[in-house]
Amino acid sequence: MTGYKDNQLIHIHPVEAFQDNYIWLIHNDQNSIVVDPGDASPLIEVLQRKNLNLVAILVTHHHADHIGGVLELQKKYPHVKIFAPKKDKYDFVNISLQDGDEINIPELQINYKIFEIPGHTKGHIAYYDMKNLFCGDTLFACGCGKIFDGTHEQMYNSLKKISGLSKDTKIYCGHEYTKKNIAFALSVNPNNSDLLLRDEHVSNLKITIPSTLGEELKTNPFLNCTSIEAFKALRDLKDQY
Ligand SMILES: [Zn+2]
Repeated sequence: MTGYKDNQLIHIHPVEAFQDNYIWLIHNDQNSIVVDPGDASPLIEVLQRKNLNLVAILVTHHHADHIGGVLELQKKYPHVKIFAPKKDKYDFVNISLQDGDEINIPELQINYKIFEIPGHTKGHIAYYDMKNLFCGDTLFACGCGKIFDGTHEQMYNSLKKISGLSKDTKIYCGHEYTKKNIAFALSVNPNNSDLLLRDEHVSNLKITIPSTLGEELKTNPFLNCTSIEAFKALRDLKDQY
């Protein structure tokens, strides 16, 4: 995935970790940013192969499969800046972020706006550069995250907040769950023609991320709930699916 910003080429690649996690690597020809490094080793292998320096780590939430590699990366890249949600506690030094904050990564000339999107966890945040949204385990392709230490009401409101962004926003989530999510969505919306097309489209893809917000609005049942009660009922159904 590529995009031009200030005349420099920025690449965004997934680095696969564990069973189904994606660590997002954002880089130019010299420097890189990573999102949610649950495991350092696959990432270090890619950084070394591409001869990239690591300048920033963006953490969306406190789960181990999103932060497990941070300390090792900090040891290897001692100047790396680590950003994390203010409402969580971390055992690594970090720059804590809350809703409305903006951060600048000068080495890549990228600015991110911070959104608090609690629900999966109570401190969960997203990073938004006006084109790409790194939303961790909140909005998944055709699904949404489970409720851990947040609440259903928080998740409902966070999904509404994301829904208000531009429809061409690319959605970079933390896991490859798309095919299972589409199967669930079809079980509740068997006649949604956009969903049937999406099912066909992803059937031969290994990596289905990023999607776009527009695609999610047409096919993701969790974005179409019109009340917190309806959202909770759907989330409960998915938890038992
Ligand atoms: Zn999580």
